[in-house]
Amino acid sequence: MNPWNNISSLSYKQIKEYQNHQLNSFINTHVYPFSSHYRQVFDDHKINPKHIKTIADLKHLPFTSKLDLMTKENPQKFRDFVLAPDQNKIRQFWPKTKLLQMALQSTFRGKESVLDALGKEYRPIFMTFTTGTTNAPVPFIYSRYDIDNLNLSGSRMVHLFNIKSDEKIMNIFPFAPHLAFWQTFFGALEANIFALSTGGGKVMGTEGNFTALMRTKPSVILGVPSYIYHLVRYAQKRQENLSFIKKIVLGASKVTVEYKFKLAEMLRDCGAHHVLIFGTYGFTEARTAWAECPTENHISSGYHLYPDKEIFEIVDPQTGEIKKEGEDGELIYTSIDSRASVVLRYRTGDFVKGGIIHEPCPHCGLMTLRISSDISRLSDTKDLNLSKIKGMLVNLNHFAEVLNNLPEIDEWQLEIRKHNNDPYDSDEIIIYIPPKGLVNESSFSVMLKDKLVATTELAPNEIKFVPLSEMIQRLELETANKEKRILDSRPKL
Ligand SMILES: [Zn+2]
Repeated sequence: MNPWNNISSLSYKQIKEYQNHQLNSFINTHVYPFSSHYRQVFDDHKINPKHIKTIADLKHLPFTSKLDLMTKENPQKFRDFVLAPDQNKIRQFWPKTKLLQMALQSTFRGKESVLDALGKEYRPIFMTFTTGTTNAPVPFIYSRYDIDNLNLSGSRMVHLFNIKSDEKIMNIFPFAPHLAFWQTFFGALEANIFALSTGGGKVMGTEGNFTALMRTKPSVILGVPSYIYHLVRYAQKRQENLSFIKKIVLGASKVTVEYKFKLAEMLRDCGAHHVLIFGTYGFTEARTAWAECPTENHISSGYHLYPDKEIFEIVDPQTGEIKKEGEDGELIYTSIDSRASVVLRYRTGDFVKGGIIHEPCPHCGLMTLRISSDISRLSDTKDLNLSKIKGMLVNLNHFAEVLNNLPEIDEWQLEIRKHNNDPYDSDEIIIYIPPKGLVNESSFSVMLKDKLVATTELAPNEIKFVPLSEMIQRLELETANKEKRILDSRPKL
């Protein structure tokens, strides 16, 4: 069965009507009764949960941010977001008719009691963590109900990528309690497709992953962009034939069109022509991921949303003012169909250019909503304390854009450090690049400095050319879950 069936034929108006209804019912049946955090929020702000009837009413609720989930004083605060029904709350908030209905359904299911059914719906059974670089990781809990949602989104993506039942998948996402690995693992299981999950570079090493790749010959590979790139380059150096690869699905990191072209060129060099390359977007707090669909020339289709499961708003990151759907702004996430850890109006810290698109997808025809693929993390810039770089507020994403888009550069690392490693001395920016057969290093350095100054108004203090093997170590490509593309080695004061 097509996992998109229940939403793919809805018009924009019908989607909005469904979301309004679902939002009201979700808040009144599950969130207000069973979430101690949100019951407090509603009561403190004197908001009657019954009055949240439409998406427009969400503006009465304050935003939820990472800080609400965990504080230094209360590291267990995330527990207040987990729905915790008990007999008293159920009696207080649920109409008798709902319990009667559940009892009837249980009778039809045979041995399963109402308590069993409630346990399946709410009992915490699984957990993934946020991957903060500076903040402590925050756990997000799943019940069986949420695993079913994870299965559904996984099989929706498999359908979107047009992966056939006789194809083989290789999951190279790092093995960890992080969303990407498990979204892929559960998605493939649910879609009934063969998948080898290697655990990534940290678990099996590049040699191990490469051997598994050549033995399994999967047509679909999923992983983190930097590691997939590394693995394909490894194959290219050995002049291996990768013609069995048809699709590459990337996650856990931003993917640009330029990256897709570079990767496609390397794949062509290994005999893999016309490889379709997709990006995905997801975050721990949503406990799901969304994906692009197949397109010509590596154009990004935008991420296909699940409007039966969530509502996205777009707001001005500074003022919190709500923007129109197609406008740029920070993505705000509200769950409308989940259990265990639930967040409403969650500030993702992700800035989207191009907002939400509601026209049917020109590539696959799906009528569900999409968000533009041009997403950058506001939180990265906050984490790196940019105001302190040479006393200027710098958006490091602009550095990344320039460096990613240069065809002469394969890998790069930007290091921010203190002159002489003295915490009171001036900031320095060093860029490391492997030579990759550059004709002239000094003229290339001049060109790169000019480009960076034009885009970021900041010149690097030094551009260092280092061998690729050293670069792989600097980036921790084979040892870390996420590459160290930007390194802030300034001593903390
Ligand atoms: Zn599409």
